Amino acid sequence: MKEITSKTLITGIFGYPLSHTLSPAMHNKAFEALGLDYVYLPFPVSPENLPPAVKALSALGFKGVNITIPHKEAVMKYLDEVAKEAELIGAVNTIVVKEGKLCGFNTDGSGFLNSLREAGFDPKGKKAVVLGAGGACRAVAMTLSWAGIGKLHLAARSVAKAENLARDISNFSSTWLEVSNLEDLTEQAIGEADLIINTTPVGMYPHVDELAPLNTNALHRGQLVCDLIYNPLQTTLLKEAGKQGCATLNGIGMLVYQGAESFSLWTEKSAPLEVMRQAVLNNVGKSRKKVP
Ligand code: NAP
Repeated sequence: MKEITSKTLITGIFGYPLSHTLSPAMHNKAFEALGLDYVYLPFPVSPENLPPAVKALSALGFKGVNITIPHKEAVMKYLDEVAKEAELIGAVNTIVVKEGKLCGFNTDGSGFLNSLREAGFDPKGKKAVVLGAGGACRAVAMTLSWAGIGKLHLAARSVAKAENLARDISNFSSTWLEVSNLEDLTEQAIGEADLIINTTPVGMYPHVDELAPLNTNALHRGQLVCDLIYNPLQTTLLKEAGKQGCATLNGIGMLVYQGAESFSLWTEKSAPLEVMRQAVLNNVGKSRKKVP
């Protein structure tokens, strides 16, 4: 185990509950690989403890923390500065402590975009169907519109949330936007998309047999189907999409790239991506056993 001294720089993650996080394994391996005297610790911070916990970051000399469910939106009002992208997305997943000031960033959207590009997909001018309208969806959809996606069809169970998101995107982009209830998503809309993204948790462990709400018969070769879920690595949606001849992408790349960006914000160094990816892959199975 790494030696911790008074000089060791502290990072970590605030969330509640935190039983499933792979981030400590990913970041601690990355610090070790680069010989950095940093440590990354999990902090289960309940909603009522969020304000004092965030306030303590500066006093305790933290370099920063990741923020996860359920605090990504609530934390924003306790920060000194919020980056423009995070402000527009409406959520912060990374805090950096700079000269005593708390600065908020969102690396989820750029993490997804980097994983998409790594898979050889350039969203510019393409058509996408996005399932869901929650926090991760906002980050992904906004970032796709900044990257020049041609058309976004947002299909959600709570249509009002998808409409809000479409309105927010339309304020700064010329992306062609459509919104529908998940049940009203037509075979034609699915069939004409280049990219389909599941941002709902349907199919996530332990409900691995559940299929994300999509008519998979309308999928075909030439499409890329993404699931933000990484546990399991192959969701039922990705398995069905593979049977239809689609290329598929799980949430590991997004997890690694959003983490890499946080890592660079804290250390001002390039993240060792492959070390981080391997750490995540080595621990997915272990975390699966822990989730109740
Ligand atoms: P969230 O804010 O709770 O949003 C979840 C969305 O899914 C909401 O729109 C919700 O609809 C919808 N939904 C939930 N259950 C549904 C169902 N049975 N049928 C239809 N829609 C349903 O959660 P999030 O933070 O966006 O996370 C969503 C997923 O992304 C999770 O699986 C998470 O693990 C994954 N994720 C992955 C990464 C990564 O790095 N790979 C990063 C972030 C998130 P309502 O609004 O109607 O409830």
